[in-house]
Amino acid sequence: MTESVSSIDQIFTLSGLRTDHWRDLLAIARKWHAGKAEAVQVRQAYDALQAVETLHAYPGPQLLNALTAALDANNKESFVDLAGRISFSILARYYKEDAREWAVTPEQGRELAGSFTGSDPTAPHRPYFEVLVVAPPDSPRVAQNVQLIRSQRRKEDEFVYEPVVVTNFQDACCAIATNSNICAVAIFEGFNYASQFPMPQLNVMLQQLNITANDDDEHLALELAQTMADHRPELDIYLMSDRNPQEIASDSRSAHVRRILYAVEEPIELHLSILEGIRHRYETPFFDNLKRYAQRPVSTFHALPIARGKSVFKSDWIKDMGEFYGRNLFLAESSATTGGLDSLLEPTGNIKRAQEKAARAFGADHCFFVTNGTSTSNKIVLMSVAQPGDIFIVDRNCHKSHHYGAVLGGLQPYYVEAYPMKEYSMYGAVPLRVIKQGLLKLKAEGKLDRVRLLDLTNCTFDGHVYNTLRVMQECLAIKPDLVFLWDEAWFGFAHWSPFLRPRTAMGAAATLEKYLRSPEAQQAYDAQQQLLGENPDDEALLNTHLVPDPSKVRLRVYQTNSTHKSMSAIRQGSMVLVKDVDFHRIEPQLHEAIFTHSTTSPNQQLIASLDVARRQMELEGYGLVSNAIQIALDIRNQINTHPLISRYFRVLGADEMIPEQYRNSGFKDFLAPGTNWSNAALAIRDDEFFLDPTRITLVCGTAGFDGTQFKNLLANQYDIQLNKTSRNSILLQSNINNTRSDVAQLIHVLLEISSQIDERLRNDGEGAREAFEQRVTSLMTDVPDLPNFSAFDAKFRNDVNGQVAVEGDIRTAFYKSWDESNTEYVGLNSPECDQRLKDGPPMVSAKLVIPYPPGFPILVPGQIINHEVISFMRKLDVKEVHGYDSSRGLQVLKS
Ligand SMILES: *Cc1c(COP(=O)(O)O)cnc(C)c1O
Repeated sequence: MTESVSSIDQIFTLSGLRTDHWRDLLAIARKWHAGKAEAVQVRQAYDALQAVETLHAYPGPQLLNALTAALDANNKESFVDLAGRISFSILARYYKEDAREWAVTPEQGRELAGSFTGSDPTAPHRPYFEVLVVAPPDSPRVAQNVQLIRSQRRKEDEFVYEPVVVTNFQDACCAIATNSNICAVAIFEGFNYASQFPMPQLNVMLQQLNITANDDDEHLALELAQTMADHRPELDIYLMSDRNPQEIASDSRSAHVRRILYAVEEPIELHLSILEGIRHRYETPFFDNLKRYAQRPVSTFHALPIARGKSVFKSDWIKDMGEFYGRNLFLAESSATTGGLDSLLEPTGNIKRAQEKAARAFGADHCFFVTNGTSTSNKIVLMSVAQPGDIFIVDRNCHKSHHYGAVLGGLQPYYVEAYPMKEYSMYGAVPLRVIKQGLLKLKAEGKLDRVRLLDLTNCTFDGHVYNTLRVMQECLAIKPDLVFLWDEAWFGFAHWSPFLRPRTAMGAAATLEKYLRSPEAQQAYDAQQQLLGENPDDEALLNTHLVPDPSKVRLRVYQTNSTHKSMSAIRQGSMVLVKDVDFHRIEPQLHEAIFTHSTTSPNQQLIASLDVARRQMELEGYGLVSNAIQIALDIRNQINTHPLISRYFRVLGADEMIPEQYRNSGFKDFLAPGTNWSNAALAIRDDEFFLDPTRITLVCGTAGFDGTQFKNLLANQYDIQLNKTSRNSILLQSNINNTRSDVAQLIHVLLEISSQIDERLRNDGEGAREAFEQRVTSLMTDVPDLPNFSAFDAKFRNDVNGQVAVEGDIRTAFYKSWDESNTEYVGLNSPECDQRLKDGPPMVSAKLVIPYPPGFPILVPGQIINHEVISFMRKLDVKEVHGYDSSRGLQVLKS
């Protein structure tokens, strides 16, 4: 790593650094060639990329030596040619496909051609990966292994791989961080600790991770395995050791090692183990079988005429559907659960195995595939962990599937409020203090035993990420058997980022599980009990960072994710991930809940895509997610620093999305000057909320557009699609599908729009400017107050000692409206509405009312309609309001 690694984007995604280095080198080399730069400048740029290049298999020593030779010989022509070829090959990834890319000369290329696929267009595609070899310098055994890897390569292999050799701990850490091609690691004992390159940033990183290994640690290899597994748990790690196997096995860190191999074993064992490890991740049990199934001659007598496609391809009228989708879609359609297709509702074969693989990949104990979206996953979890009458604490601003889940399962929602971001007509996330207050109120009312779960959205639509670990810790201190449902509809990908993973439900559950088993957990609890005394008052509990009693805690964590929203699954593909010590007890209930909510005709293609999405993330997720983050940081940076674009548009920083009191570390934003690894790492670990960099709130009110207007402009005139807007902003998201060209296109469009505004304001005179400023003021300052949840009507509440209960019987209220005679309509702007607000009788909503945007329910069944709600609705200028018919008015329950 070079000294230049100092800004946050490079730290989040060190891999972006590499292409920049090659671009810089090529630019200066071309100038040198044209006589406009000195050789010494070329050498500087070349030296700058050396450190990073030693961490990649391509271009490798042979090509780099040729490049160095050309530079030494002042051979400008060859240098520019070769540097150009290499940098293009890196960008276009040709080296993965075509062995000729690795050759210095064309003759050599012809020799190499046979060993890869690219030169033979008829050969099947073979995935390429790299193996990191960490070994003592100048070891004959390592040389032998590396040699073997190359000589073993055969045309029949399913995969091709190349070794990358490093000789120390620090380079090894950098290699797995920067090189996303690395899928496996072979560690030979006896390597060094320190790198020969200066790496101040890495040292900071290792400090943050509490890694204090040094030269004389005889367990350096295991320490390295642990560090790597923390950073990239998907890697297969192999340890080559001469030591006593028992000694290694008794060290808990050896759990991260896939296989320990001994010096006496043939090097071929390593080669075979590596391929076997990749095959294990590559295997997609359901999809593989579906492909086989599609090839078989099957006569179908079940009810799915479209299966095999004969009704389509033989038709005079719908043949185009067949042509559009292709034959395989129909060959892979079936309603059978025979032929090895397995049953999603009662999996015993390849679906079961596919789910087990997904569970392991996502760090869960169990995984269930759901083919009706996370809307259904949420209902399944709510139904299986709670019974009618149970209370659950839930963000009022959560997805509607939770509210409807409460109606279906008879759960009583105890609504908690996220902090408002009034200026942008959106909500943040729910502060921990508010959640604890809820638990303590319920405790005081004697209802704690009815509280079943805490249900929160992580991350929110706009990117607020909870401190999942701290939330669970503190809540378990108040109620040790509380269940957690983290709706991570948007956040499934986060497992593949070492920066975001600790804040996922499963990431935090793993940390908490480990902590609860440690002696420190008991000590911390005992110390806290001493400090707080017998009967601490609520204020003390609210002000203390509570730790739970490890002897009492039942750790029960559920995560739902819309795999289709952040990974390569077909729409509606979703997963439920489980880490629950009491799972055996609830498993029958979970199955009933699955039976209740799932279709009996699950779509085969959807199941297959969930299987495949898992494969992709395990083999290339790390690189893809790094890239998505890099792209998001690029977008943020380019918009906010562009002189013209930033005049009218602005991306909100973390400091504008998250109030200061929730950023204890002092972290401001990814782009703030001076931001580096240490404050980002601290923010991720300690801050109450963190902003997912891939969710980008772009303020467009300052350009005179409301969110919906701007969204339509982008869609209709520029083919840029997005889905969320607020009164004065739009939400841009980057994902594993985006490329740098998308960034270029977006910036190009924003620039064009900014120029048009600029021109219009310049040419159209004072009147136009005033109108523009008025519009901006209206959008940016004349924003409605966000209404808090008022209360359930007394009929649907169970007040204790005159204390107004927060939770309510939403289900009874919901079903009341089924009988029309129980409801009436009140016009939003009618005198009756004002009259009733003033003198009663109170209006009680019959419906869940959700305006889009902003997309949160301003009313739920049984809720008292108050002034705030009415004035918010009156100010609302959107047309799409679910649960509200403007021609009839608000549907309310008769008293
Ligand atoms: C989209 C979404 C859901 C619903 O997921 P689907 O897969 O569309 O059914 C649930 N919760 C949140 C937070 C969402 O954003």
